[in-house]
Amino acid sequence: MNPFFQRLPESGVPDFNAIKFEHYREAFDKGFMEHDEEIKAIVDNSNSPTFINTIESFERSGALLRRVGAVFFNLTSSNTTKELQALEREIMPKYAAHHNQITSNAELFKRIKAVKEGNETLSGEAFQLLAETHREFVRAGAELDDRKRKRVNAITEELAGLLTEFSQNVLKDTNEFEMILDEPADLAGLPNFVLKAASTEAADRGHSGKYAFTISRSSITPFLQYADSRELRERIYRAYTSCGTTSVDNKPIIQRIVRLRAERAGLLGFPNHGEFMADDRMAGTTSAIKKLLDQVWKPCQQKVAKEAADLQQRIREEGNNFELAPWDWWYYTEKIRKERYDLDEEELKPYFRLESVRDGVFEVARKLYGITFHERTDLPVYHPDVVAYEVNEDDGSLIGYFLFDFFMRPSKRGGAWMSTFRDQSGMDGHVSPVVVNCCNFPKAEPCLLGLDEVRTLFHEFGHGLHGLLSDVRYESLSGTSVKQDFVELPSQIMEHWAVEPEVLKSYALHIDSGEPMPDELVERLRAAATFNQGFETTEYLAACYLDLAWHGAEALATVDVGAFEERAMRLIDKISMIDPRYKSSYFQHIFNDEDYSAGYYVYLWAEVLDADGYEAFKENGVFDRQTAQSFRDNILAKGGTVEPMRLYEQFRGRAPEVMPLLKNRGLLLED
Ligand SMILES: [Zn+2]
Repeated sequence: MNPFFQRLPESGVPDFNAIKFEHYREAFDKGFMEHDEEIKAIVDNSNSPTFINTIESFERSGALLRRVGAVFFNLTSSNTTKELQALEREIMPKYAAHHNQITSNAELFKRIKAVKEGNETLSGEAFQLLAETHREFVRAGAELDDRKRKRVNAITEELAGLLTEFSQNVLKDTNEFEMILDEPADLAGLPNFVLKAASTEAADRGHSGKYAFTISRSSITPFLQYADSRELRERIYRAYTSCGTTSVDNKPIIQRIVRLRAERAGLLGFPNHGEFMADDRMAGTTSAIKKLLDQVWKPCQQKVAKEAADLQQRIREEGNNFELAPWDWWYYTEKIRKERYDLDEEELKPYFRLESVRDGVFEVARKLYGITFHERTDLPVYHPDVVAYEVNEDDGSLIGYFLFDFFMRPSKRGGAWMSTFRDQSGMDGHVSPVVVNCCNFPKAEPCLLGLDEVRTLFHEFGHGLHGLLSDVRYESLSGTSVKQDFVELPSQIMEHWAVEPEVLKSYALHIDSGEPMPDELVERLRAAATFNQGFETTEYLAACYLDLAWHGAEALATVDVGAFEERAMRLIDKISMIDPRYKSSYFQHIFNDEDYSAGYYVYLWAEVLDADGYEAFKENGVFDRQTAQSFRDNILAKGGTVEPMRLYEQFRGRAPEVMPLLKNRGLLLED
């Protein structure tokens, strides 16, 4: 019997041992069919449409599809195989078509609309579920006449192809550029770990005994940081910033994408794509987004001017008289960083043993929310590296299950993420969540983490708590199913505890001596946090402005991508020696992804909330139980059941302020 045809075990953790490859396709096929039948039953109901017989029934529909999808989409990311990849290519278009067919179902939409316009008084979650369901259909074109809806569908299909082409072009240009070096003068300044990686890369590319550098981030960044040869730094930098325009040409693709998105926005009643996207986010309008960007941009420009002056001075001190250029920034910054903070990753790592950091984050959760994590070796897992935990309240009652999947392996995609195998809900009896955190730490014994990896672990665990502590009725509004510019609040706020001195000293214990991190090192680590933030903020914000410009009104008249980009940067008066983090021709977030288009700002939006929110903890004590309870009740438990700004204000007692973000980034200049 196909395990997907049965109910999940009580724990909600799928019986991974019983699932075989052949079960997926069979379950998907039956899942699509069952879902179609369930929707037909809703449409064919002879009773007039009500919230219960239409909206709740629609929410309930597709259970089998969700059951098989949860396992399939998790494993294709975290433990895939050739077979699963092939099946993924087959299933994805079917999945998209299935979804389109539902949102184009005129009879179904008629009922949804009737409920929306009817006189049932709904409140709270029910009101929100109805609003979100209706909104999803409207945004897919359900209100349009046949001709226009068909055009929207056609645009969406054409866009899917263009986005893929854009991304494959970036990959092609990235793979094609190589800089092969073997003259000692060309390699001067590069530390051993950089040379070692470059030597392996060269061997892979058939240049044994030499050193290869590429424009992938992991290769170009250390080269720009350490290589003494200014000429070679310029060469590789120029190759990087012309990615997508060298052996391929992304410029016409960008123009086509921009025009199609604008046309679709127009059909759906919005002045441009930026407004169409903002309408479904917490920000609401692009002017609200621009207002925030401007608030950070002004102090950032002052800070970055100071940083540039420091670098220029460093250049003069070395007896050079050239003007600071983009390919110099990393190099001189690294020199100043070393002089000022003497902070070396190798000095930190012995304090960040994986097990210590993991216990540290569990302890933070216990102190804040009274919840505990117990390892459960009897539960099935999908890979031997995965560790399962039972999560309980302090009175022992069950919250759900949590899987930690730390290590890198060829079957796992890069990056770090949180996902679920089952979402919390309460419509048909209480359903407890099953949450997973995936990371890509190199497997070693002992496994020692860098500071960025420690932050990543805390970050993903924050998303994990959002899923675990969810307490809602409807699955589609559960946990992390919130607006896109709100979802990073629970994760980014957790990063503050990772580097809070009191917390660091409790979990960052030296691997040999067991001694906590000395105060002096904690101090240096915290002092270094605001270093070079003018640069980091400038390149990030410049990309945010560029993204909004492409999706605003002005972009349509564009004939030249480069000139448009220059104009957008001139309008914000950007310093010339820093480029946007991504130039248009390789800006994958916005041209290979619909969800992040006109949305590169979401990290900053959430950062206003996490910085301001963490201030509440600092004011009352970073482990104050009442503040934590309020954060749990108002934010973590609520998922997408209430407008996010209302949730935040209920927690904070007021609207968020941008000042703490400026302070954390070191953008408040002392005079
Ligand atoms: Zn995140």
